[in-house]
Amino acid sequence: MSSTNNAENLSEAIERMREKYRVEREKRLRPDGSDQFIEVKDQFAHFSKDPFVNEDAGRARRNSKAEVVIVGGGFGGLLTAARFSTAGYTDICVIEEGGDFGGTWYWNRYPGAQCDIESYVYLPLLEELGYMPTEKYAHADEIFNHSRAIGEHYGLYEQALFQTRMVDADWNEEAGTWSVLTDGGDKVEAQFLVLATGNLTRPKLPGIPGIEKFKGHIFHTSRWDYDYTGGDNRGGMTGLADKRVAIVGSGATAVQAVPKLAQSAEHLFVCQRTPSTIDVRANGPTDKEWFSKLEKGWQQERIENLTNILNGLPQAEDLVADGWTDLMHKMIEANREAKKGGDRGVPPMRLAQYRKMEEIRARVDQCVEDEAAAEALKPYYDMFCKRPCFHDEYLPSFNRDNVTLLDTDGQGVDGITASGVVVKGEEYPVDCIIFATGFEVGVSMQRRVGIDLNGRNGLRLSEKWADGPRTLHGIHVNGFPNCFILGGVQSTIAFNVPHHLDEQARTIALILEEIREKGLGRVEATEDAEKAWVDGIINDGQKVSLPGQDPCTPGYYNNEGQSTKNGRYFRAFKGGPPRYFKKLKAWREDGNFDGINFG
Ligand code: NDP
Repeated sequence: MSSTNNAENLSEAIERMREKYRVEREKRLRPDGSDQFIEVKDQFAHFSKDPFVNEDAGRARRNSKAEVVIVGGGFGGLLTAARFSTAGYTDICVIEEGGDFGGTWYWNRYPGAQCDIESYVYLPLLEELGYMPTEKYAHADEIFNHSRAIGEHYGLYEQALFQTRMVDADWNEEAGTWSVLTDGGDKVEAQFLVLATGNLTRPKLPGIPGIEKFKGHIFHTSRWDYDYTGGDNRGGMTGLADKRVAIVGSGATAVQAVPKLAQSAEHLFVCQRTPSTIDVRANGPTDKEWFSKLEKGWQQERIENLTNILNGLPQAEDLVADGWTDLMHKMIEANREAKKGGDRGVPPMRLAQYRKMEEIRARVDQCVEDEAAAEALKPYYDMFCKRPCFHDEYLPSFNRDNVTLLDTDGQGVDGITASGVVVKGEEYPVDCIIFATGFEVGVSMQRRVGIDLNGRNGLRLSEKWADGPRTLHGIHVNGFPNCFILGGVQSTIAFNVPHHLDEQARTIALILEEIREKGLGRVEATEDAEKAWVDGIINDGQKVSLPGQDPCTPGYYNNEGQSTKNGRYFRAFKGGPPRYFKKLKAWREDGNFDGINFG
């Protein structure tokens, strides 16, 4: 009897909670969806200005040749260059908007920035470089330095074009080369072109009324102004000691920056629209002895182990054993238990979700003293509706006297005046506003990175993709020979992004090896193979955005709760990263190069 009652109680509790989730979601849905955000152009262009370089560095225009042009000097570009180099291609020109290699880690130097995936699987090419990360979750400065070390190791500095954007590229059918043009007036002729331009690159601003009126200091987290704040990635921002600071946003970036700001600012206001899930981090220094005993091939094994666990594939051992994998084990365990229990009348995954989120909410109560603040910091949606966060200092920051949570109850900041932020009708005067409001997602490659290409017979990529992207493996596009896309659409969505990039880089490197070995000149996806892949994605692909799913509040993971135009084209290969990586690996090992033609 009591077990039935318990089952009923649980079932009712879950239903009540889901009703709350629905209310929280409805509260946040807005008709303007992604259009609520402001592009960093025109009067807002200064928000994307690079604070880490001297803008007048000036260099002579380049008119040169290279075997390969790689657009993007982040992990995607670096991994491609590394794999190409091993395959014998060393004449590589990297075109990069930032002043150095690093990509995400060039731009995101905000205080507290660190990788949220374990360093031993996240930092690329550790064995190749013989590098041991200093911590389980390395800080941004270390990751940036590692990116530079990769650039040095593979000799990429000599030809690299920094502070430079590719603006166009033309395929020359006769010569079998790409002519790549940049905003610096450079022209580089190359046999191969790789687009490794990343996904979360262009900062976006919240469309808060009055945003242009603020007279104090204002910037985006990905362009941190250390001249103003003082300090560095590790904190110590002495420039804020007499400043009242507002940070807008409470996503993965804000969660890392808030504890450091709290330590430095005279007063910190955290403007929250939706709280993140904050689980245990437990960072610590690398055990040198353990690291020195790792055997050759350990990194790939560890990378695959993590990807498999995160996608629910049982492994003999959990090598990473951290918050991410714990999360998955708990979800799987609860799912298994719920299946056994049977009589609860609740779908197993729903029960697992409920339990995990209750644990996350209980942690808020344990860490935050003020009851009202604790309640406001509790997330009411399913796990993975937003990027899960792991941090041990974020929640306790709200116990400090100099930190105020300005919860907007899902509505966002009402307005910005000349001297402060307005939340729930009340103005809070501040000296500085920092936007931790994320990056443009789901907009075209042309808008995100300003890239378009002229393929065979003058075909524009933007024209070919007018109704949605068309690729083979998410890498090749028919009509665009010798061009490869990394980390893009129609492939997969991996939490550990470098794993995704490396699997693609290895695949492309093998193609280049074949070209060299056989003395060939070009490669292109066939129309049929591309069609088959696109049909598979459209008809059978995994949705990456779930606008109709009520457990999720809006955000960039679900296109702000709206359906995506031609969304079927943006789906991922079904079965998650392990299946996509397996598919690429089998394709590499098979040696038939199915779906592409060489010439
Ligand atoms: P997000 O897009 O995740 O978060 C933006 C934040 O701004 C949200 O909290 C959003 O609220 C809030 N916001 C937007 N508009 C308003 C408004 N008008 N008023 C108040 N708040 C507003 O950006 P992040 O930079 O935090 O993270 C982006 C991604 O970068 C992450 O998802 C992750 O993939 C990656 N990242 C990775 C890290 C790593 O260690 N590898 C570290 C940090 C980030 P709402 O949720 O309501 O929309």
